[in-house]
Amino acid sequence: MTREDLRSCLWFLVFQTFGQHARELITTELALRLLSILSEEEFLPDVDRVSLNKTLDRLVIKVVPMENLNGRKIVEDGELCERRNGRGVDLNRNWSVDWGKKEKDYDPYEENPGTAPFSEPEAQIMRKLSVSFGPHIWVNVHSGMEALFMPYDHKNTTPDGIPSQIMKSMLDELNHFHLKDRCLIGSGGGSVGYLAHGTATDYMYDVARVPMAFTFEIYGDTKASSKDCFKMFNPVDITSFNRVLNDWSGTFLKMFSIGVQQIDGLESKAVASSFDKLVSIDDYLNGYLMQRKSRYGKKIEVLDLGMQEIRTYFRLFLLSSVLLMFMFCSRITKSARPIVSAMSL
Ligand SMILES: [Zn+2]
Repeated sequence: MTREDLRSCLWFLVFQTFGQHARELITTELALRLLSILSEEEFLPDVDRVSLNKTLDRLVIKVVPMENLNGRKIVEDGELCERRNGRGVDLNRNWSVDWGKKEKDYDPYEENPGTAPFSEPEAQIMRKLSVSFGPHIWVNVHSGMEALFMPYDHKNTTPDGIPSQIMKSMLDELNHFHLKDRCLIGSGGGSVGYLAHGTATDYMYDVARVPMAFTFEIYGDTKASSKDCFKMFNPVDITSFNRVLNDWSGTFLKMFSIGVQQIDGLESKAVASSFDKLVSIDDYLNGYLMQRKSRYGKKIEVLDLGMQEIRTYFRLFLLSSVLLMFMFCSRITKSARPIVSAMSL
């Protein structure tokens, strides 16, 4: 396997959703601005095109620009405070981690979790997409405040260990260099002032095993009247509108580049180890299958069994070839013997 082959395997996969809550219209605007920048329709100032293209060469991005289409229609019809879907369910409470638990201040107008985990088609589709795509990063984009949240939403803690430290350091870097340290950082449950049960980000981290799972809150007007939902969740003047879209597009591009650098780190380790020792075909296949299995789960177990059979057949084929060669050679020796003996006499 050449270095280039190895490189082509190491894509960085990012899965992002916008507009999960209907009244947070600005989030879908950000999705469209980001896509426009990535397709070179629009350009961000201070972005180096060469290094951006280098990052994009290694990136696969899946974007859901408007997750809650029916809720959005209700908002566009004038119900500006609606955040739920067309069936009155909060799509960020309909996932299975700690689903259905209600806090003392539970308000069904805001947080109705549905009749069961994944009762809503939108949540089912998002779950399917995440399982088939297997992203390295998940970002659920909301508005109402400025924050960069990591798990957990359903409890007042962050996960233990190195993955959690990696998430935290990425958020610190994004906040410091692109958002002027305006954002609150930490676990959703610990920072936002209330616990949220059955959220998408907790599912992505705990069940779908996405290594970095985030909720970004991109804008909020805390001084706006609680009756003026449009103003609470969306900028109302063109300067703030463009500032929000530019700042957060830059933040996403930076996040992509940090992610690709992390994958590069893994790649150089893999190249170094491939030169350190010769690996047998069995070790190579086992390593490859383990790597894929961690991404695709049960489907690969079938492939694993298939590969064991192929290895067995390959060994039988080698054995039978050796036997055939032996038989063939012994026949030649027998038929050649008289001639040889005749010559020697
Ligand atoms: Zn929201």
